[in-house]
Amino acid sequence: MASHYGGIPEDVIQEIIARNSIESVVGKYVQFTKRTGQNQFGLCPFHSEDTPSFSISTTKQIYYCFGCHKGGNVIHFLMEIENIGYVDAIKLLAEQSGVTIPESNDEEYQREEKKRKRIKGALLEAARYFYANLMSPRGEGARSYLQKRAISTKMARGFGLGYAPDEWEGLSHFLKDKGYRDEELLESGLFTKGKRGQPVDLFRGRLMFPIFNPMGEIIAFGGRIMGDGQPKYINSPESPVYSKQKNLYALNFAKASCKKQLIIVEGYMDVISMHQAGVKNAVASLGTALTERHLDLLGRYTEEVVLFYDSDKAGQNAAIRGLKMIMHRKQKQSGLALKVSVAKVPNGKDPDEFIREFGAGAFQEVVDSAMPVMDYLMDSAKLQCTNGKKFDAQSYQMLVCEYLSWETNLISRERAANLVSSVLGVSTQSILNQVALAGKERKASEVISVERKTRTQTEVKSTHNLGETATNDELILLVLLSMMGSSYSNLFDKPLVTDFSMGTMRSIAKEYLPLLGTPEGDTNHLLEATHEYVINKRLARDVISECLMTTTGAHDEKSLLRYALDYLYRVRMDVYTRQKKRLAEQLDGMPNGPDKEATKKGLLDTMNYLKYLQEQMKSMR
Ligand SMILES: [Zn+2]
Repeated sequence: MASHYGGIPEDVIQEIIARNSIESVVGKYVQFTKRTGQNQFGLCPFHSEDTPSFSISTTKQIYYCFGCHKGGNVIHFLMEIENIGYVDAIKLLAEQSGVTIPESNDEEYQREEKKRKRIKGALLEAARYFYANLMSPRGEGARSYLQKRAISTKMARGFGLGYAPDEWEGLSHFLKDKGYRDEELLESGLFTKGKRGQPVDLFRGRLMFPIFNPMGEIIAFGGRIMGDGQPKYINSPESPVYSKQKNLYALNFAKASCKKQLIIVEGYMDVISMHQAGVKNAVASLGTALTERHLDLLGRYTEEVVLFYDSDKAGQNAAIRGLKMIMHRKQKQSGLALKVSVAKVPNGKDPDEFIREFGAGAFQEVVDSAMPVMDYLMDSAKLQCTNGKKFDAQSYQMLVCEYLSWETNLISRERAANLVSSVLGVSTQSILNQVALAGKERKASEVISVERKTRTQTEVKSTHNLGETATNDELILLVLLSMMGSSYSNLFDKPLVTDFSMGTMRSIAKEYLPLLGTPEGDTNHLLEATHEYVINKRLARDVISECLMTTTGAHDEKSLLRYALDYLYRVRMDVYTRQKKRLAEQLDGMPNGPDKEATKKGLLDTMNYLKYLQEQMKSMR
């Protein structure tokens, strides 16, 4: 928990939260037009809407949107709206309210930070090792490959390219001589574990590409095999310093180009060729499809992205999936202000090939002719439904209607439908009607699946310990507890960690329950303690804010105590009912003996306790 705070002392965070009311912080971005009780409503800044479903609670000091279901406290609001990290949001609020943040004194954070520094140090040494090998006689094969791809020595040096010799422990010995310990090496992502537990070089006989973070520090490597072996490319696994979903190759160079636009291609070699040709705003995703996190990252550095996808079938499928994610995200939260378009290299070439053959000028023309996402999808649908000279109009119609239903902007939708109408020879209106139908069907099926999920959830949980799920009752219990303050000491029965589902919910309970009854047990601390968790596939802070916003009616101590106890017993009933079922199943077919007797006793105790709970609940009504 401590490391979430980036070393900022807890009491300082609480002071910052206390000095920045939800109303004043959110009020800079949202105009409140409606008030009901303690809540104020306005148009949501995270998704587009005509009627206000975004709300703040001045008593609970939280926000929650009933439309897009985002929620949290002032810090989370700033993180979302300014697209900044947790620590940055705190710093911003501190500045605005004149709170000074003391130097970090969080031991765990400092320990982690020290470890990360050591790993980065090892990665930098590794890059030097690879570079020296590239320049040595051993690197001749790799050098001639670069020559073949027309990469200059200057470029190779600028991007820190290197060569990993075909040895099992070459790098491992090199780094150990520099004083790095085995466990540090194993955490760096450059090694696998050998039979004796020793670090074994992961990259062997490969051309090496260091991967930098936006600050220009080496955080990982990619390696291309020399010759015909498989796999062609491998990348470092995730490590304490590297997450492929949060980084883009060459962003450190591209951000320095200060262009309003970033170009996203697929491979390392594409990026390097482009930079060499003077296209200095190119980056690559690291062997993975573009994710929402990538979009967040891009949004910090640019206003517009142009995507290039490989023109082969796999590349095209990846493109459609990526674009669906982008459209979907646009629909969910207008927070995505990025302009996205898609470009196509003529004749099915790679950007790398094309730029070597035709130069940067011709490439810029390709970039300039990039299409809006919808147009690209329409085009792609046509290609997918064309086989030689045969055009399958029916599949085409189905496909375009699906794609069009991803578009929420009615004008863009109509414009694209217009293009389709000329292909199919039908009116634009009939296409729009069909799209509306497709959209409705999709919504209906989504709703059904959600309902089904909630209904079967407890059932599923009794057989597996699904790490991320929690029942509504547990969530409400947690929220009620957070509202109790000092009344907690008057709660007749106290919650236990085991009342909460295994996985995320239990980790939260472990951290949070000991704080109850102290000043640190309030709602804000609950949001703080859970801010990086995911419950039921949603951010914990969103789920908890929703729960806070919808849990009403418990304003005085007496009713709060009654509600909390009621939910505690409900949750516990669930736990013990599952236990009863499990014990009964065990008992079935168990041979006679002391084990059976013990299980029988356990079952009896469980049933007695269930009876007690039932009586308690009845007496409260
Ligand atoms: Zn919203």
